[in-house]
Parts: sequence; structure tokens; C-alpha cells
Amino acid sequence: MADAHFPVATLGPGRRLVLWLQGCALACPGCMSRHTWDAAGGYATTVGDLLRLWDEALAEGADGLTVSGGEPLAQPAALAALLRGAAGLRHRYGDRGREADLLVYTGYEPGEV
Ligand code: SF4
Repeated sequence: MADAHFPVATLGPGRRLVLWLQGCALACPGCMSRHTWDAAGGYATTVGDLLRLWDEALAEGADGLTVSGGEPLAQPAALAALLRGAAGLRHRYGDRGREADLLVYTGYEPGEV
């Protein structure tokens, strides 16, 4: 895990929780997030801890969750568990006329995903 912030207003619509996952092997030219490349860097956390952050953000009116990096798809099982859990929580504080959205940034092409 590289970082987490709430609220962020630039990586998707509205006020968002943003999670930057650690580790990326794609090495895109001009990458601005080289500090997230080393899969052994960052800090260890759990899907449960991240879902607690999401729950807290929803309680404070978050409009969505953005998962970035790093390359989120480099940790497919953990990412799937995170998104499954996040989707299950997003109605919890629901009476705002719509549900919070989930957004994942990736460096892969659609055919590679
Ligand atoms: S996918 Fe993102 S973090 Fe990885 S090299 Fe490309 S721009 Fe950088």
C-alpha cells in the first residue's frame, strides 16, 4: 500500500476515498508515480483495514472510491476482495439518491485486463 486519502476531489467525480496500491511493473514512460513501482515498498495493510477506511469515508458522505497506484491489477485477488467488499458497503449510508461509485485506474490496455 502506497497511500490513502479522503477527501480527494481530482481522481473521479465528487469527494472520494483514494487508495494508491504499491507495486507496478509496467514502467510507463513519463510515469509520475515511480515511488509506487517497488512491490516491496510502501506499507503492509489488509483488505479489512481498507474497507474500514471506505466505511468511514461513506459515513462522511463519500461519493466514490478510486483505486490507483502503482498498478492495482498487480494484486488481483486482493483487488477483487476489496472491490467486492466496497460494493457491498456502498448502500449502507444510502439515502442520497444514488450510490457511491467505484473506479479503478490501470495501465493495462482493455484487451490485457
Ligand atoms: S501504470 Fe501507472 S504507476 Fe505504473 S508505470 Fe504506468 S503510470 Fe506509472
